[in-house]
Amino acid sequence: MKNFLLAATLFLVIIAPLTSKAQEVEDIQNGNNTSLCISNEEYNAIEKRQAENIIKYNIKLPLNKTTATQVTYNWPLRAAKGFKDSGFYAIYAYVDQDATSGIKDWNCGTNTYNGHKGTDIGLFPYRFYMMDNKQVEIIAAADGIIMDKIDSLFDKNCAANGLTANYVMLMHSDSSRTLYAHMKKYSLTTKKIGDKVKQGEFLGTVGSSGSSTGPHLHFEVWKGDKQSTYNDPWAGSCNKINATTWWAKQKSYTEPAIIVASVHTAAPVVPACPGTETPNEDSCFKAGGTALFQIAYRNETKGLTANMRIVNPDGSTFNSWTRTSAADNKSIRTYVSNTLPSKAGTYTFEAKYNGITTNKKFKINCSPTTGIESYQGNLDFRIYPNPSNGNLTINSNPHCIGQRIIIYNSVGEIVSENSLTNETTSLNLQLPNGLYFYKSGESIGKILIQN
Ligand SMILES: [Zn+2]
Repeated sequence: MKNFLLAATLFLVIIAPLTSKAQEVEDIQNGNNTSLCISNEEYNAIEKRQAENIIKYNIKLPLNKTTATQVTYNWPLRAAKGFKDSGFYAIYAYVDQDATSGIKDWNCGTNTYNGHKGTDIGLFPYRFYMMDNKQVEIIAAADGIIMDKIDSLFDKNCAANGLTANYVMLMHSDSSRTLYAHMKKYSLTTKKIGDKVKQGEFLGTVGSSGSSTGPHLHFEVWKGDKQSTYNDPWAGSCNKINATTWWAKQKSYTEPAIIVASVHTAAPVVPACPGTETPNEDSCFKAGGTALFQIAYRNETKGLTANMRIVNPDGSTFNSWTRTSAADNKSIRTYVSNTLPSKAGTYTFEAKYNGITTNKKFKINCSPTTGIESYQGNLDFRIYPNPSNGNLTINSNPHCIGQRIIIYNSVGEIVSENSLTNETTSLNLQLPNGLYFYKSGESIGKILIQN
């Protein structure tokens, strides 16, 4: 996929709520694909390797594919354990149903690009941050046998370059194949070629290996062992390949929703591909200060109105505002600056769109007895979010770079030791729930892990 990211910064002034300022719109990702996710050379190589693997690993093919019951597929992605946002993906391209140089998807729309043979499901809103932290897992769409896997290739590509992707291919009981491409390097299941997997079993995590402009899953279905048998699993009036859906539960063509509502100390930093984003998200703020309240839409739809509200601890409204979508966008983030409440307590940022409500809780004047402070009293050193699921960001002054950060459990055993590599360092602690302590230079503090 090419030009997966079309970033634009616009400034809109909306009908001002009580205290909000100008609304900024940025990071629109709509896709503008012109080159194949999987090159013809790669398809040929996959076919060849599968044929070799059948012999090499003595893979038993389904007995009679003409009488086999057709398999139906479940959604091939899930949020990793501990991921709390209500959504994590947008669909950036379906199968191209137009045999000419034109484009048409199964629903007679144009969410595809010329010659595309799969469904591209991209991460949003922080595609590289989400990839780095393995927040989105690729799972088997149906029971099957691993026909092939590649795990070792570079995974931060930013262009449709014809390179080979990390991938898993499964064969199912009806002889159909599912291909899961562009996976993160070394993220794949430890199961071997020829091993069986169950529907919903972990296969790997999303990456940007191969011919890819950003972290996404290319999910492709073959009816048989050749790429020429590719199918379009989505049933719709412009699907000329297949009359019925192959999904156990087919999703709507678009799924308009605010998938993440979040509160930020500063605007998220989104560097050019393949830079990792810095969300600058927090859950703990000073009374009466300001914070950015961001919403991340999937399938923003022209004319729909989003209703945002900051909810007081007693359920009443502290502040509210609306935003009416002026255009269709596959994915977009936007935020407003708001004055924060002056009373301590736990508040909720609530966002409603298309009948779906998304919430994010945040605290004003966090007290050590009710929670753990994000600001540990040392301006040189900040660790957040806190509590967290183990995915932590550390902001430190430049003089701290290279310094160790050591994390201890409640009985004083070292459970993690890392270096601060930058002014912003990400840690992905795979630790059981509980209270931990950190020490880095002169900074000490507590970390609460809640998976
Ligand atoms: Zn693709």
